[in-house]
Amino acid sequence: MNALAATNRNFRHAARILGLDSKVEKSLLIPFREIKVECTIPRDDGTLVSYVGFRVQHDNARGPMKGGIRYHPEVDPDEVNALAQLMTWKSAVADIPYGGAKGGIGCNPGDLSKSELERLTRVFTQKIHDLIGVHTDVPAPDMGTNAQTMAWILDEYSKFHGHSPAVVTGKPIDLGGSLGREAATGRGVVFATEALLAEHGMSIKGLTFAVQGFGNVGSWAAKIIHERGGKVVAVSDITGAVKNPNGIDIPELIRHKESTGSLKNFQGADSMDANELLVHECDVLIPCALGGVLNRENAADVKAKFIIEAANHPTDPEADEILAKKGVVILPDIYANSGGVTVSYFEWVQSAYDLNSSNLVVKYLNFSRLANETIQQASEAKILLKFYSSGLETIGNRESDSQTSDNIQGFMWDEEQVNKTLQNYMTRAFHNIKSMCQTHDCNLRMGAFTLGVSRVARATLLRGWEA
Ligand code: GLU
Repeated sequence: MNALAATNRNFRHAARILGLDSKVEKSLLIPFREIKVECTIPRDDGTLVSYVGFRVQHDNARGPMKGGIRYHPEVDPDEVNALAQLMTWKSAVADIPYGGAKGGIGCNPGDLSKSELERLTRVFTQKIHDLIGVHTDVPAPDMGTNAQTMAWILDEYSKFHGHSPAVVTGKPIDLGGSLGREAATGRGVVFATEALLAEHGMSIKGLTFAVQGFGNVGSWAAKIIHERGGKVVAVSDITGAVKNPNGIDIPELIRHKESTGSLKNFQGADSMDANELLVHECDVLIPCALGGVLNRENAADVKAKFIIEAANHPTDPEADEILAKKGVVILPDIYANSGGVTVSYFEWVQSAYDLNSSNLVVKYLNFSRLANETIQQASEAKILLKFYSSGLETIGNRESDSQTSDNIQGFMWDEEQVNKTLQNYMTRAFHNIKSMCQTHDCNLRMGAFTLGVSRVARATLLRGWEA
Protein backbone atom coordinates (compact mmCIF):
# COMPACT_ATOMS: atom_id res chain seq x y z
CA MET A 1 0.00 0.00 0.00
CA ASN A 2 1.51 3.36 -0.94
CA ALA A 3 2.08 6.12 1.61
CA LEU A 4 -1.00 8.13 0.66
CA ALA A 5 -3.37 5.16 0.69
CA ALA A 6 -2.02 4.12 4.10
CA THR A 7 -2.30 7.64 5.56
CA ASN A 8 -5.82 8.12 4.17
CA ARG A 9 -6.85 4.79 5.64
CA ASN A 10 -5.61 5.76 9.10
CA PHE A 11 -7.34 9.15 8.82
CA ARG A 12 -10.67 7.54 7.77
CA HIS A 13 -10.44 5.07 10.62
CA ALA A 14 -9.97 7.96 13.08
CA ALA A 15 -12.82 9.91 11.48
CA ARG A 16 -15.11 6.88 11.97
CA ILE A 17 -14.06 6.51 15.61
CA LEU A 18 -14.81 10.21 16.16
CA GLY A 19 -18.13 10.02 14.27
CA LEU A 20 -17.01 12.90 12.05
CA ASP A 21 -19.56 14.30 9.61
CA SER A 22 -18.73 12.92 6.14
CA LYS A 23 -18.54 16.42 4.60
CA VAL A 24 -16.08 17.59 7.25
CA GLU A 25 -14.13 14.37 6.70
CA LYS A 26 -13.90 15.07 2.98
CA SER A 27 -12.82 18.67 3.48
CA LEU A 28 -10.08 17.59 5.91
CA LEU A 29 -8.77 14.99 3.47
CA ILE A 30 -8.44 17.16 0.37
CA PRO A 31 -5.24 19.27 0.48
CA PHE A 32 -5.57 23.05 0.65
CA ARG A 33 -3.18 23.46 -2.31
CA GLU A 34 -0.77 21.30 -4.34
CA ILE A 35 2.16 22.91 -6.12
CA LYS A 36 4.33 21.21 -8.75
CA VAL A 37 7.21 23.10 -10.35
CA GLU A 38 9.95 22.48 -12.87
CA CYS A 39 13.45 23.24 -11.58
CA THR A 40 16.18 23.38 -14.22
CA ILE A 41 19.77 24.19 -13.26
CA PRO A 42 23.11 24.16 -15.03
CA ARG A 43 25.38 21.51 -13.52
CA ASP A 44 28.97 22.48 -12.69
CA ASP A 45 30.10 21.16 -16.11
CA GLY A 46 27.60 23.43 -17.91
CA THR A 47 25.08 20.73 -18.90
CA LEU A 48 21.43 21.32 -17.97
CA VAL A 49 19.44 19.09 -15.66
CA SER A 50 15.73 19.32 -14.79
CA TYR A 51 13.99 18.18 -11.63
CA VAL A 52 10.41 18.31 -10.40
CA GLY A 53 9.74 20.06 -7.09
CA PHE A 54 6.59 19.81 -4.98
CA ARG A 55 4.97 21.66 -2.11
CA VAL A 56 1.70 20.31 -0.78
CA GLN A 57 -0.11 22.55 1.68
CA HIS A 58 -2.56 20.30 3.45
CA ASP A 59 -4.42 22.33 6.06
CA ASN A 60 -4.23 25.69 7.86
CA ALA A 61 -7.19 25.64 10.24
CA ARG A 62 -4.93 25.81 13.34
CA GLY A 63 -2.26 28.14 11.96
CA PRO A 64 0.36 28.56 9.21
CA MET A 65 1.14 25.37 7.35
CA LYS A 66 4.37 23.77 8.45
CA GLY A 67 6.61 20.98 7.28
CA GLY A 68 9.94 19.92 5.87
CA ILE A 69 11.44 19.86 2.41
CA ARG A 70 12.84 16.50 1.34
CA TYR A 71 15.49 15.89 -1.33
CA HIS A 72 15.32 12.21 -2.25
CA PRO A 73 14.97 10.13 -5.43
CA GLU A 74 11.69 8.61 -4.18
CA VAL A 75 9.92 11.97 -3.72
CA ASP A 76 6.65 11.82 -5.69
CA PRO A 77 3.26 13.59 -5.47
CA ASP A 78 1.59 10.82 -3.46
CA GLU A 79 4.37 10.64 -0.91
CA VAL A 80 4.49 14.43 -0.46
CA ASN A 81 0.70 14.46 -0.07
CA ALA A 82 0.83 11.79 2.61
CA LEU A 83 3.65 13.54 4.45
CA ALA A 84 1.82 16.91 4.30
CA GLN A 85 -1.28 15.34 5.79
CA LEU A 86 0.78 13.67 8.54
CA MET A 87 2.23 17.12 9.39
CA THR A 88 -1.31 18.47 9.97
CA TRP A 89 -2.09 15.75 12.51
CA LYS A 90 1.42 15.93 14.00
CA SER A 91 1.24 19.67 14.72
CA ALA A 92 -2.20 19.17 16.27
CA VAL A 93 -1.01 16.25 18.44
CA ALA A 94 1.89 18.41 19.65
CA ASP A 95 -0.64 21.22 20.19
CA ILE A 96 1.43 23.83 18.41
CA PRO A 97 -0.41 26.48 16.36
CA TYR A 98 0.34 25.14 12.90
CA GLY A 99 -1.27 23.30 10.05
CA GLY A 100 0.57 20.88 7.81
CA ALA A 101 2.60 20.99 4.59
CA LYS A 102 5.46 19.12 2.98
CA GLY A 103 7.73 19.70 0.01
CA GLY A 104 10.39 17.94 -1.88
CA ILE A 105 12.45 17.54 -5.00
CA GLY A 106 12.90 14.17 -6.69
CA CYS A 107 16.70 14.15 -6.79
CA ASN A 108 19.64 12.39 -5.24
CA PRO A 109 21.40 15.11 -3.20
CA GLY A 110 24.48 12.87 -2.88
CA ASP A 111 25.02 13.19 -6.66
CA LEU A 112 25.01 17.01 -6.58
CA SER A 113 27.85 19.34 -5.60
CA LYS A 114 27.25 22.02 -2.97
CA SER A 115 26.92 24.72 -5.61
CA GLU A 116 24.49 22.59 -7.64
CA LEU A 117 22.39 22.06 -4.50
CA GLU A 118 22.43 25.79 -3.86
CA ARG A 119 21.26 26.55 -7.42
CA LEU A 120 18.52 23.92 -7.18
CA THR A 121 17.31 25.28 -3.83
CA ARG A 122 17.27 28.85 -5.13
CA VAL A 123 15.35 27.91 -8.30
CA PHE A 124 12.82 25.95 -6.23
CA THR A 125 12.42 28.94 -3.87
CA GLN A 126 11.91 31.30 -6.82
CA LYS A 127 9.05 29.08 -7.99
CA ILE A 128 7.26 28.86 -4.62
CA HIS A 129 8.17 32.13 -2.86
CA ASP A 130 4.72 33.66 -3.41
CA LEU A 131 3.03 30.71 -1.73
CA ILE A 132 5.14 30.36 1.41
CA GLY A 133 5.58 32.95 4.17
CA VAL A 134 5.99 33.56 7.91
CA HIS A 135 2.23 33.39 8.44
CA THR A 136 1.21 31.12 5.57
CA ASP A 137 3.63 28.21 5.12
CA VAL A 138 6.96 27.71 6.89
CA PRO A 139 9.38 25.08 5.47
CA ALA A 140 12.05 23.22 7.49
CA PRO A 141 14.67 20.53 6.85
CA ASP A 142 13.76 16.91 6.19
CA MET A 143 15.58 13.96 4.63
CA GLY A 144 18.41 15.18 2.34
CA THR A 145 18.19 18.83 3.44
CA ASN A 146 19.70 20.71 6.39
CA ALA A 147 20.33 24.11 7.99
CA GLN A 148 22.36 25.24 4.96
CA THR A 149 19.41 24.49 2.65
CA MET A 150 17.21 26.64 4.91
CA ALA A 151 19.77 29.48 4.78
CA TRP A 152 19.58 29.46 0.95
CA ILE A 153 15.76 29.45 1.01
CA LEU A 154 15.78 32.32 3.52
CA ASP A 155 18.22 34.32 1.38
CA GLU A 156 16.32 33.75 -1.87
CA TYR A 157 12.94 34.44 -0.24
CA SER A 158 14.29 37.65 1.31
CA LYS A 159 15.21 39.01 -2.13
CA PHE A 160 11.49 39.09 -2.93
CA HIS A 161 9.94 39.86 0.46
CA GLY A 162 12.57 41.54 2.63
CA HIS A 163 14.53 39.89 5.40
CA SER A 164 12.20 37.30 6.99
CA PRO A 165 14.08 34.77 9.14
CA ALA A 166 10.87 33.18 10.41
CA VAL A 167 9.92 32.01 6.90
CA VAL A 168 11.94 28.84 7.54
CA THR A 169 12.96 26.94 10.66
CA GLY A 170 15.91 24.65 11.21
CA LYS A 171 18.16 27.57 10.18
CA PRO A 172 21.81 27.95 11.18
CA ILE A 173 22.12 29.53 14.64
CA ASP A 174 23.82 32.61 13.16
CA LEU A 175 20.73 33.30 11.07
CA GLY A 176 18.26 33.04 13.94
CA GLY A 177 18.08 29.25 14.33
CA SER A 178 17.33 27.73 17.71
CA LEU A 179 19.79 25.96 19.93
CA GLY A 180 18.77 22.33 20.18
CA ARG A 181 16.86 22.27 16.85
CA GLU A 182 19.31 19.94 15.11
CA ALA A 183 19.01 17.32 17.87
CA ALA A 184 15.30 17.96 18.47
CA THR A 185 13.70 15.13 16.48
CA GLY A 186 16.08 12.53 17.96
CA ARG A 187 15.75 14.00 21.45
CA GLY A 188 11.95 14.07 21.12
CA VAL A 189 12.05 10.39 20.08
CA VAL A 190 13.87 9.62 23.33
CA PHE A 191 11.41 11.65 25.46
CA ALA A 192 8.54 9.81 23.72
CA THR A 193 10.22 6.45 24.36
CA GLU A 194 10.68 7.33 28.03
CA ALA A 195 7.01 8.31 28.38
CA LEU A 196 5.92 5.00 26.83
CA LEU A 197 8.35 2.86 28.83
CA ALA A 198 7.32 4.59 32.08
CA GLU A 199 3.72 3.45 31.39
CA HIS A 200 5.05 -0.10 31.32
CA GLY A 201 7.13 0.38 34.48
CA MET A 202 10.36 0.35 32.46
CA SER A 203 13.17 2.74 31.57
CA ILE A 204 15.79 3.04 28.82
CA LYS A 205 18.62 1.86 31.08
CA GLY A 206 19.42 -1.80 30.45
CA LEU A 207 17.05 -2.28 27.49
CA THR A 208 18.37 -3.18 24.02
CA PHE A 209 17.68 -1.00 20.94
CA ALA A 210 18.01 -1.44 17.17
CA VAL A 211 18.16 1.79 15.16
CA GLN A 212 17.45 1.81 11.42
CA GLY A 213 18.89 4.98 9.83
CA PHE A 214 21.90 6.87 11.15
CA GLY A 215 21.29 10.33 9.73
CA ASN A 216 20.28 13.34 11.80
CA VAL A 217 17.38 11.63 13.61
CA GLY A 218 18.86 8.15 14.12
CA SER A 219 22.29 9.30 15.26
CA TRP A 220 20.90 11.77 17.82
CA ALA A 221 18.37 9.26 19.14
CA ALA A 222 21.07 6.55 19.42
CA LYS A 223 23.49 8.95 21.12
CA ILE A 224 20.98 10.07 23.75
CA ILE A 225 19.82 6.48 24.38
CA HIS A 226 23.47 5.47 24.83
CA GLU A 227 23.99 8.36 27.30
CA ARG A 228 20.96 7.16 29.29
CA GLY A 229 22.28 3.64 29.71
CA GLY A 230 20.38 1.97 26.85
CA LYS A 231 22.28 -0.68 24.86
CA VAL A 232 22.16 0.07 21.14
CA VAL A 233 22.85 -3.42 19.76
CA ALA A 234 22.35 -2.78 16.03
CA VAL A 235 22.51 0.24 13.70
CA SER A 236 22.04 0.48 9.93
CA ASP A 237 22.09 3.13 7.23
CA ILE A 238 22.40 3.15 3.43
CA THR A 239 26.10 2.25 3.68
CA GLY A 240 25.59 -0.93 5.72
CA ALA A 241 24.78 -2.25 9.19
CA VAL A 242 26.65 -3.17 12.38
CA LYS A 243 25.77 -5.18 15.48
CA ASN A 244 27.22 -5.84 18.91
CA PRO A 245 25.17 -7.73 21.53
CA ASN A 246 27.06 -5.94 24.31
CA GLY A 247 26.09 -2.51 22.98
CA ILE A 248 27.76 -0.32 20.35
CA ASP A 249 29.84 2.67 21.47
CA ILE A 250 27.65 5.25 19.70
CA PRO A 251 29.92 8.32 20.06
CA GLU A 252 32.72 6.19 18.48
CA LEU A 253 30.37 5.10 15.67
CA ILE A 254 29.42 8.75 15.03
CA ARG A 255 33.12 9.69 14.83
CA HIS A 256 33.74 6.76 12.48
CA LYS A 257 30.88 7.79 10.20
CA GLU A 258 32.00 11.43 10.22
CA SER A 259 35.53 10.51 9.23
CA THR A 260 34.81 7.73 6.69
CA GLY A 261 31.31 8.65 5.54
CA SER A 262 30.13 5.08 6.18
CA LEU A 263 29.33 2.47 8.84
CA LYS A 264 31.63 0.00 7.08
CA ASN A 265 34.86 -1.19 8.75
CA PHE A 266 33.84 0.01 12.22
CA GLN A 267 36.06 -1.83 14.68
CA GLY A 268 33.69 -1.86 17.66
CA ALA A 269 31.01 -4.08 16.08
CA ASP A 270 30.43 -6.86 13.53
CA SER A 271 28.93 -6.05 10.19
CA MET A 272 25.52 -7.49 9.36
CA ASP A 273 22.99 -7.53 6.54
CA ALA A 274 21.07 -4.23 6.67
CA ASN A 275 17.80 -6.04 5.81
CA GLU A 276 18.20 -8.04 9.00
CA LEU A 277 18.09 -4.97 11.24
CA LEU A 278 14.31 -4.69 11.42
CA VAL A 279 14.01 -8.29 12.63
CA HIS A 280 17.09 -8.18 14.87
CA GLU A 281 16.82 -9.36 18.49
CA CYS A 282 16.11 -6.27 20.66
CA ASP A 283 13.58 -4.80 23.09
CA VAL A 284 12.96 -1.58 21.16
CA LEU A 285 13.12 -1.06 17.39
CA ILE A 286 13.46 2.52 16.12
CA PRO A 287 12.99 2.95 12.35
CA CYS A 288 14.47 6.38 11.50
CA ALA A 289 14.62 6.22 7.71
CA LEU A 290 12.10 5.83 4.90
CA GLY A 291 8.39 5.00 4.97
CA GLY A 292 6.86 1.57 4.45
CA VAL A 293 9.85 -0.41 5.75
CA LEU A 294 7.69 -2.59 8.01
CA ASN A 295 5.24 -4.48 5.81
CA ARG A 296 3.67 -7.91 5.40
CA GLU A 297 7.02 -9.33 4.21
CA ASN A 298 8.83 -8.80 7.50
CA ALA A 299 6.30 -7.84 10.22
CA ALA A 300 5.80 -11.41 11.48
CA ASP A 301 9.56 -11.74 12.10
CA VAL A 302 9.98 -8.59 14.21
CA LYS A 303 11.42 -9.50 17.65
CA ALA A 304 11.09 -6.11 19.36
CA LYS A 305 8.38 -5.56 21.97
CA PHE A 306 8.19 -1.82 21.24
CA ILE A 307 8.47 0.08 17.95
CA ILE A 308 9.12 3.81 18.07
CA GLU A 309 8.29 5.41 14.71
CA ALA A 310 10.99 8.05 14.35
CA ALA A 311 10.50 7.92 10.56
CA ASN A 312 7.26 9.05 8.92
CA HIS A 313 4.84 6.14 8.16
CA PRO A 314 7.46 3.35 8.54
CA THR A 315 4.72 0.78 9.28
CA ASP A 316 2.14 0.04 6.62
CA PRO A 317 -1.40 -0.90 7.73
CA GLU A 318 -0.91 -4.61 6.98
CA ALA A 319 2.17 -4.71 9.18
CA ASP A 320 0.25 -2.77 11.83
CA GLU A 321 -2.29 -5.58 12.05
CA ILE A 322 0.31 -8.34 12.13
CA LEU A 323 2.32 -6.55 14.83
CA ALA A 324 -0.79 -5.85 16.92
CA LYS A 325 -1.61 -9.58 16.90
CA LYS A 326 1.93 -10.28 18.16
CA GLY A 327 1.38 -7.80 21.01
CA VAL A 328 4.03 -5.34 19.77
CA VAL A 329 3.38 -1.81 21.07
CA ILE A 330 3.84 0.87 18.38
CA LEU A 331 4.41 4.51 19.22
CA PRO A 332 3.12 6.29 16.08
CA ASP A 333 5.10 8.72 13.92
CA ILE A 334 2.76 11.70 14.33
CA TYR A 335 3.67 11.68 18.00
CA ALA A 336 7.08 9.97 18.20
CA ASN A 337 8.88 12.26 15.74
CA SER A 338 7.07 15.50 16.62
CA GLY A 339 10.10 16.87 18.53
CA GLY A 340 11.48 18.41 15.32
CA VAL A 341 8.44 20.47 14.45
CA THR A 342 7.92 21.35 18.13
CA VAL A 343 11.37 22.93 18.38
CA SER A 344 10.74 24.51 14.95
CA TYR A 345 7.83 26.25 16.66
CA PHE A 346 10.12 27.42 19.49
CA GLU A 347 12.54 28.71 16.83
CA TRP A 348 9.77 30.50 14.91
CA VAL A 349 8.60 32.22 18.07
CA GLN A 350 12.12 33.23 19.05
CA SER A 351 13.55 34.20 15.72
CA ALA A 352 11.82 37.00 13.86
CA TYR A 353 14.28 39.84 13.69
CA ASP A 354 12.87 43.19 12.86
CA LEU A 355 14.74 44.48 9.85
CA ASN A 356 14.22 48.08 10.92
CA SER A 357 16.05 47.67 14.22
CA SER A 358 18.71 45.40 12.69
CA ASN A 359 18.28 43.00 15.59
CA LEU A 360 20.07 40.27 13.70
CA VAL A 361 23.22 42.36 13.62
CA VAL A 362 22.87 43.28 17.30
CA LYS A 363 22.54 39.62 18.11
CA TYR A 364 25.51 38.75 15.93
CA LEU A 365 27.65 41.35 17.73
CA ASN A 366 26.55 40.05 21.14
CA PHE A 367 27.25 36.52 20.05
CA SER A 368 30.73 37.50 18.88
CA ARG A 369 31.42 39.21 22.20
CA LEU A 370 30.12 36.29 24.22
CA ALA A 371 32.09 33.77 22.26
CA ASN A 372 35.13 36.03 22.57
CA GLU A 373 35.59 35.96 18.85
CA THR A 374 38.02 37.96 16.80
CA ILE A 375 37.76 41.57 15.72
CA GLN A 376 37.50 40.30 12.18
CA GLN A 377 34.14 38.74 12.94
CA ALA A 378 32.93 41.93 14.59
CA SER A 379 33.82 43.82 11.43
CA GLU A 380 31.96 41.19 9.40
CA ALA A 381 28.97 42.09 11.52
CA LYS A 382 29.42 45.75 10.55
CA ILE A 383 29.40 44.72 6.91
CA LEU A 384 26.17 42.84 7.61
CA LEU A 385 24.74 45.98 9.18
CA LYS A 386 25.61 47.96 6.04
CA PHE A 387 24.11 45.22 3.89
CA TYR A 388 20.83 45.28 5.78
CA SER A 389 20.66 49.08 5.83
CA SER A 390 21.11 49.18 2.05
CA GLY A 391 18.54 46.38 1.85
CA LEU A 392 16.10 48.72 3.57
CA GLU A 393 16.56 51.30 0.82
CA THR A 394 16.11 48.79 -1.99
CA ILE A 395 13.04 47.31 -0.37
CA GLY A 396 11.52 50.79 -0.07
CA ASN A 397 7.83 50.64 0.77
CA ARG A 398 7.33 47.03 -0.20
CA GLU A 399 5.52 45.23 2.59
CA SER A 400 7.80 42.60 4.04
CA ASP A 401 6.89 39.67 6.24
CA SER A 402 9.14 41.02 8.96
CA GLN A 403 6.98 44.10 9.25
CA THR A 404 3.92 41.99 9.88
CA SER A 405 5.45 39.41 12.25
CA ASP A 406 3.94 40.99 15.30
CA ASN A 407 3.49 37.88 17.45
CA ILE A 408 7.04 36.66 17.07
CA GLN A 409 9.42 37.72 19.72
CA GLY A 410 13.03 37.86 18.65
CA PHE A 411 14.86 36.50 21.67
CA MET A 412 16.97 33.42 22.19
CA TRP A 413 16.37 30.59 24.64
CA ASP A 414 19.32 28.65 26.01
CA GLU A 415 19.54 24.99 25.08
CA GLU A 416 18.43 23.79 28.49
CA GLN A 417 15.21 25.76 28.19
CA VAL A 418 14.59 24.39 24.68
CA ASN A 419 15.13 20.78 25.81
CA LYS A 420 13.09 21.14 29.00
CA THR A 421 10.17 22.76 27.17
CA LEU A 422 10.36 20.04 24.49
CA GLN A 423 10.17 17.39 27.21
CA ASN A 424 7.06 19.07 28.66
CA TYR A 425 5.37 19.14 25.23
CA MET A 426 6.24 15.48 24.54
CA THR A 427 5.01 14.31 27.95
CA ARG A 428 1.80 16.33 27.70
CA ALA A 429 1.07 14.95 24.22
CA PHE A 430 1.65 11.38 25.43
CA HIS A 431 -0.91 11.80 28.22
CA ASN A 432 -3.39 13.43 25.80
CA ILE A 433 -2.99 10.44 23.45
CA LYS A 434 -3.45 7.96 26.31
CA SER A 435 -6.67 9.63 27.34
CA MET A 436 -7.99 9.36 23.73
CA CYS A 437 -7.02 5.66 23.82
CA GLN A 438 -9.09 5.24 26.97
CA THR A 439 -12.06 7.22 25.67
CA HIS A 440 -12.20 5.36 22.34
CA ASP A 441 -10.73 2.04 23.45
CA CYS A 442 -8.13 2.12 20.69
CA ASN A 443 -4.39 1.63 20.15
CA LEU A 444 -1.77 4.40 20.34
CA ARG A 445 -1.88 5.10 16.58
CA MET A 446 -5.63 5.71 16.69
CA GLY A 447 -5.22 7.59 19.99
CA ALA A 448 -2.83 9.99 18.23
CA PHE A 449 -4.91 10.23 15.03
CA THR A 450 -8.16 10.87 16.90
CA LEU A 451 -6.40 13.51 19.03
CA GLY A 452 -4.94 15.31 15.99
CA VAL A 453 -7.99 14.98 13.75
CA SER A 454 -10.43 16.11 16.47
CA ARG A 455 -8.37 19.23 17.21
CA VAL A 456 -8.20 20.16 13.51
CA ALA A 457 -11.91 19.38 12.99
CA ARG A 458 -12.85 21.63 15.94
CA ALA A 459 -10.77 24.50 14.57
CA THR A 460 -12.27 24.00 11.11
CA LEU A 461 -15.85 24.02 12.43
CA LEU A 462 -15.19 27.12 14.54
CA ARG A 463 -13.83 28.99 11.52
CA GLY A 464 -16.81 27.93 9.37
CA TRP A 465 -17.20 27.95 5.58
CA GLU A 466 -19.08 31.18 4.88
CA ALA A 467 -17.82 32.78 1.66
N1 GLU B 1 10.72 17.49 8.69
C1 GLU B 1 10.34 17.38 10.05
C2 GLU B 1 9.09 16.52 10.20
O1 GLU B 1 8.78 15.71 9.36
C3 GLU B 1 10.24 18.73 10.72
C4 GLU B 1 9.21 19.65 10.14
C5 GLU B 1 9.28 21.08 10.67
O2 GLU B 1 10.07 21.36 11.55
O3 GLU B 1 8.50 21.90 10.15
O4 GLU B 1 8.44 16.56 11.20
